[in-house]
Amino acid sequence: MTARILIVEDEAAIRELLAVNLRHAGYVVTQADSAESARQQLEAALPDLVLLDWMLPGQSGVEFAKQLRATPRTRELPIMLLTARAQEGDKLQGFEVGADDYVTKPFSPRELLARVRALLRRAAPDSLDEPVEIGGLRLEPDTFRVFAGDQPISLSPTEFKLLHYFMKHADRVLSRTKLLDNVWGDHVYIEERTVDVHIRRLRLALGPSGHDRLIETVRGGGYRFLPR
Ligand code: CA
Repeated sequence: MTARILIVEDEAAIRELLAVNLRHAGYVVTQADSAESARQQLEAALPDLVLLDWMLPGQSGVEFAKQLRATPRTRELPIMLLTARAQEGDKLQGFEVGADDYVTKPFSPRELLARVRALLRRAAPDSLDEPVEIGGLRLEPDTFRVFAGDQPISLSPTEFKLLHYFMKHADRVLSRTKLLDNVWGDHVYIEERTVDVHIRRLRLALGPSGHDRLIETVRGGGYRFLPR
């Protein structure tokens, strides 16, 4: 699928230069000239990457990046900051607010494209629809199916999403908050014990094949999906 990139830059000439280069490289490009306008576009649809200028009229790019990181829906949106400032301190501040990468103006289009590609690649594993297999349990995101060996397992959409997230983050301790953020996403008002309810259902569904053993409760920490 073609990656979509939102450019947020108030200087029309630079915005156009970026748009032309990105389109030429095959990306679908949308543009905003302020954080406010970008916010409206993000409400309608999330792009795969935001190319965000530091210096914007009104809310600055840095403030906007901070806000995107603090919002569950946009928390994992890849952000590349664009700026004329080259000082190390500014660069650090950019990373502190949660930008994933940083390009200094004037930039070479070739370098910019390479960084955009690299960032999209880093961000992609979470969105790729590739099957995952652990301990004889196989999950196919594109066909929405789960198998234990060759036996299909029936799951609700939430349990399916939960299992998918577990399998992609095997061996890591995942807190209830982290699971809520990543599996439930936008739904910030869901209580943490909801997670336990779905884990229980998931364990029940995986029980007959013995794969429930893969979901470990970590005392005081949350859950861990065993890697094998
Ligand atoms: Ca600017």
